[in-house]
Amino acid sequence: MIYPIVKYGDPVLEKPAEPVSEFDTPELHKLVDDMFESMYAAKGVGLAAPQIGVGKKIAVIDLSVGEDPLQKLVLINPEVVANDGKQREEEGCLSIPGFREEVTRGTRVTVRAQNVKGETFEMTGEQLLARALLHETDHLSGRLYITHVSALKRDLIRRKIRKLVKAGEWA
Ligand SMILES: [Zn+2]
Repeated sequence: MIYPIVKYGDPVLEKPAEPVSEFDTPELHKLVDDMFESMYAAKGVGLAAPQIGVGKKIAVIDLSVGEDPLQKLVLINPEVVANDGKQREEEGCLSIPGFREEVTRGTRVTVRAQNVKGETFEMTGEQLLARALLHETDHLSGRLYITHVSALKRDLIRRKIRKLVKAGEWA
């Protein structure tokens, strides 16, 4: 099932998500499948559960956007355990469509997470994957990438979005 992507302004995006405590259930498998489906439909490379209105610590990433099954990543209750280096690139978010800003992130990031069976694993990503890991774990803490840009730029984005909301073009 393809969920609509929740847009900036919905409080679910800025609230820390709840940890997942039940694993390997049909509901969890279905939710993860739906998250991939919804992410591919939106042509994204990462999606956090709050972005489909589910306040749980689950994120999916696929830098190949459905081309390479080996790149599918499911991160449940992820925690960043190492974050090194510095890269500054443009970043966007499915929940803030039409905007992109430069964000400084680490270049090498290690995350500890659980899979759908509840097994704990660690993985390290570099460059774009490092950025995606940080972007998605941020989502699960209720943090959007615009919290990493200057207050001036953030206010400008907020003002533009307010206009879009008024015009009925942000729903
Ligand atoms: Zn995002």
